[in-house]
Amino acid sequence: MTNSRIKLLPDHVANQIAAGEVVQRPASVVKELMENALDAGADDIKLIVKDGGKTLIQVVDNGDGMNEHDARMAFERHATSKIASAEDLFHLQTKGFRGEALASIAAVAHVEMKTKPEDADLGTYIKIEGSKIVTQEPVATQKGTSISVKNLFYNIPARRKFLKSVQVEMRHINEEFYRIALAHPRISFTLIHNGNIQYQLPKSNRLQRISNLFGHKMQTKLVPVKESTDYIKIDGYIGKPENVKLKRGEQYFFVNNRFIKSPYLHHALRSAYEGLIKEKSYPSYFIYFEIDPKHVDVNIHPTKTEIKFDDEQTVYSILKVAAKHSLGQFNLSPSMDFDKRPDLDIPYEMQKQSPKMPDIKVDPDFNPFEEDDFGQPAKTSLKHYEKKLEYWESLMHQTQADAGDLFDQQQETGSRLNDDYQEDIEAFQFLHKFIITRRQNSLLMIHQHRAHRLVIYHKMLRQLQNGHIPSQQLIFPVELHLTVDEINMLKDYEQEIKNTGFDVQFDTETLLINGVPLEQKTLDIAEIFQEILRQLQMEAPTEKQAIEKKLASIIAGKSAIKTGQKLSPDEIKALIKDLFNITENRFTPDGKIIIVEIDSKGLEKKFT
Ligand code: ADP
Ligand code: MG
Repeated sequence: MTNSRIKLLPDHVANQIAAGEVVQRPASVVKELMENALDAGADDIKLIVKDGGKTLIQVVDNGDGMNEHDARMAFERHATSKIASAEDLFHLQTKGFRGEALASIAAVAHVEMKTKPEDADLGTYIKIEGSKIVTQEPVATQKGTSISVKNLFYNIPARRKFLKSVQVEMRHINEEFYRIALAHPRISFTLIHNGNIQYQLPKSNRLQRISNLFGHKMQTKLVPVKESTDYIKIDGYIGKPENVKLKRGEQYFFVNNRFIKSPYLHHALRSAYEGLIKEKSYPSYFIYFEIDPKHVDVNIHPTKTEIKFDDEQTVYSILKVAAKHSLGQFNLSPSMDFDKRPDLDIPYEMQKQSPKMPDIKVDPDFNPFEEDDFGQPAKTSLKHYEKKLEYWESLMHQTQADAGDLFDQQQETGSRLNDDYQEDIEAFQFLHKFIITRRQNSLLMIHQHRAHRLVIYHKMLRQLQNGHIPSQQLIFPVELHLTVDEINMLKDYEQEIKNTGFDVQFDTETLLINGVPLEQKTLDIAEIFQEILRQLQMEAPTEKQAIEKKLASIIAGKSAIKTGQKLSPDEIKALIKDLFNITENRFTPDGKIIIVEIDSKGLEKKFT
């Protein structure tokens, strides 16, 4: 018999590997421990951290506590009191259920726990280092649980080295703290950093909780949003248009008191402000959805915050309408009454007149798709061309007016666009901004800049999957003069910046760029780094992949075909082809619409 070579990994190694998934940084520990405290029914939770969580993260709760046996079991992998069978997954009320968090944390840190159930005289003290229990003994303590996590990643130097500055790690911890505190206003929370109380939040209602976190002026800057249907309930607050921020404000969605991220719903909310605020501004929002859990598919990945509603479109529309309604109701837009039907705007005297046919001559032979080379119309067809333009202009106009409608249709058909798009279909550029083409019986309007941005972005992601984007050396390296703070901020992301193809060197106040991502030679480097700094200041992503995605999105945005740029027929074709090779081609990475589609039915409707 040959020697068998397959061996089971020792538990502590398996736990360390699992930890890589659950514990990315101190903020992940904060999230897990606080969620456990919530699951244990605590109504007072304290979070104590030192050095951005690098030396200490402690959570003290007054929840159910654990008996001696459970205290020890809690650190075993797949040990959970929250589910006993797969069936239970469908009725889950708790935040955690995988039984992996404590085991993972204990594999990569020094952990101490004191815990006691209400009815016990003495509690249990446990000390664990790298998955091994070093002490377990009775201890006098109060009802509830206190867990301290010290020296995170002490036994994985590579990960410890990649922890960011105290300031950056603290920002992430704050963000987790906000999400949990906002979702649970009836629970009191305290946050102490390096011995200073940062927040002491009494039990309150949602609005008070928001202002306790973000300042009392906040109350005057918000208006309530409320809507209740059989499918979903919405309750919350959104920023008045005059208070929008130039950098990303506080934007929070909660579903059944759990924080979620949703570019799609963000879009719904943002579009309620259409015409009220500038394009590059950010309204704050705190929206709480309540919905029967059977309608949502919570991603069971431990660190994901995305969820899926079984009827996303409905949620989209309800949210948009509710938000518009509150903005209107609170008299924030006197000149704009959103829900009014246009026919009611006709002055009274005119309503009595019979409608008169507009005086327009129509060319019955006119076919907007007839001509291919639309960029340079032959002299003889100039009139024809103008007519086409008129036609498209009116169509675009109506389209914009009807954006809500269209958006829904686009939703239904978006991902199917790929299947049956034929290469030889006519396409042309309109207003140097859109590409107009068709798919079977549908008319497609494609935003050229956004489309190209998505194409580049996807290409970069593919390259990143293989490790990093190759870079090409610049003959004349570029020197950027920045502040010390800016340099430090970028330094935190050095590895990810290099992975996206920038060959960079840091000095105290200069960034030297020796190479740029392959194929993106014409980039405006200074502008890209300004944008990177701007975005990182607004929101610093947590994990390597998310950072790289963000960088790719910025680079793609800056190197994509611009609005206003004329495209040759070949360029148009190539762009359409590339776009339709991407399955999810409806939105840019930040949730902006790329394709608007009207099917023949929708088109007919416009002529009634
Ligand atoms: P999960 O939360 O997925 O069940 P964890 O590893 O986070 O897994 O926790 C394991 C178990 O330890 C929990 O199911 C719970 O029974 C117990 N536990 C953890 N933290 C606490 C706490 N703060 N109070 C009471 N019990 C806790
Ligand atoms: Mg848990």
